[in-house]
Amino acid sequence: MTLSHLGAKEGVTGSCHLLHVKGLNILVDCGSFQGNDRPVPMESWPVKPADIHFLFVTHAHIDHIGRIPELIQRGFQGEILTTHPTKALLIPMLEDAMGFSGIQEVEATRICKTIEKLSWRFDYGEVFDLKKGLRFKLGRAGHILGSCFVRLEDRETGRSVIFSGDLGAFDTPLLPDPEPPDPCDVLVLESTYGDTLHRSRHDRVRRLGSILSKALSDGGKLFIPAFALGRSQELIYEMDRLYSDAMLQREFPRLGGSKVPVLLDSPLGIRLTKIYSSLAPYWDREAKDLLARGDNPIDFNGLYTVTRHQDHNRLLEMKGPAVIIAGSGMCTGGRIVDHLRAGLEDPRNDVLFVGYQAEGTLGRRVIESVESIGSLGRRGVGTIESEGAVESGEVLGRGRKADGYVELDGERVRIRAGVHVLPGYSAHADQKGLMDWVATMPEKPGSIRLVHGEARARKALGERLRAGGYRVVEF
Ligand SMILES: [Zn+2]
Repeated sequence: MTLSHLGAKEGVTGSCHLLHVKGLNILVDCGSFQGNDRPVPMESWPVKPADIHFLFVTHAHIDHIGRIPELIQRGFQGEILTTHPTKALLIPMLEDAMGFSGIQEVEATRICKTIEKLSWRFDYGEVFDLKKGLRFKLGRAGHILGSCFVRLEDRETGRSVIFSGDLGAFDTPLLPDPEPPDPCDVLVLESTYGDTLHRSRHDRVRRLGSILSKALSDGGKLFIPAFALGRSQELIYEMDRLYSDAMLQREFPRLGGSKVPVLLDSPLGIRLTKIYSSLAPYWDREAKDLLARGDNPIDFNGLYTVTRHQDHNRLLEMKGPAVIIAGSGMCTGGRIVDHLRAGLEDPRNDVLFVGYQAEGTLGRRVIESVESIGSLGRRGVGTIESEGAVESGEVLGRGRKADGYVELDGERVRIRAGVHVLPGYSAHADQKGLMDWVATMPEKPGSIRLVHGEARARKALGERLRAGGYRVVEF
């Protein structure tokens, strides 16, 4: 059994791991690289794409699937194995990504058809035979709908390896918590937040409710940049609670009875939300109970979708109050940029960040430009999810009429809108979550390899694991 890491070895993007066992080449994920992470060109991979027999997909985020089209173009003809929900989400995600990458429509269609033909879906928790005495099992990872960790075992030697994929935090809306893994010889473990403790998500709905109520009290718009997959559905779920739950209604009367429309201004987000809706058997108990009581938790009176471009343009002109959820999640492109350009200068408007904003992104620049003028309290924005920021309180934007600005396409846009940061929305387990998950294994794994994390995060998690008696190998 040999293992090589063709991505997410030193950074958090481009997940791609190659297992060579019994003459079989097995790939786990094949994701795009983002930010400063540089991809390993496929020409310099130890095996040609055409010689890869199986590709396991842990979930449908682009940094885990984005290079599948290239893999197909370079001759991959193996089987793609994943869960039911991931298979449903795979094609819409890749179609969207290919649209942005400049692949011709005819070629994109051919690639999607090939993926459809090569991919197979499996239930969680069942053991399936692969080939040559190998078998595999997919466990719930609780990260986004359909996410799984993959356990592969050689029946003859008993050797086994687990790829964690991205592990979710506990108590994520809609999703069952990560499942405890079976024992294994080698554990390939993600470490995105290996040096971080998240703020509790216990009172998250209420914090969201109070930001919404305050932000909308002056009739302005509230912009929420959000990723189309995962985060948008989580937000809709929590707004459904705020708009439908009787107790929360009493607390936040302004939000009830569709007084303030919530607009999902994202064609991809709308498409994915429909897929989420159609996959109720994979939701968690709470979401299923709501559905059984007649409340579809990812839909509510007051939620509207904006697909066509002309409707998006009309929305830019429309007056508030309104909540607008649009991508991209870090404001690096997409419809949210139009909203920010049109709305940042209006002091009645507000922007709410519910996810990590990487360095250099527009989202980060908005936060920093407001923060740098000093009216908005403490540092720690860059690491929204870091322990320091956790204690610094939930909102940056108390000094609403701040005079920061950002450059947008060479033009200065003044920021008079309120800027808020709401932590507690990470889709990843934090250090404690990762440690707890490993500890639920019936016995300690033979060795652990840390991937999918910045050096700092890998180091911190490695130290914690070693202190707990685990064997962490460098590679
Ligand atoms: Zn992910």
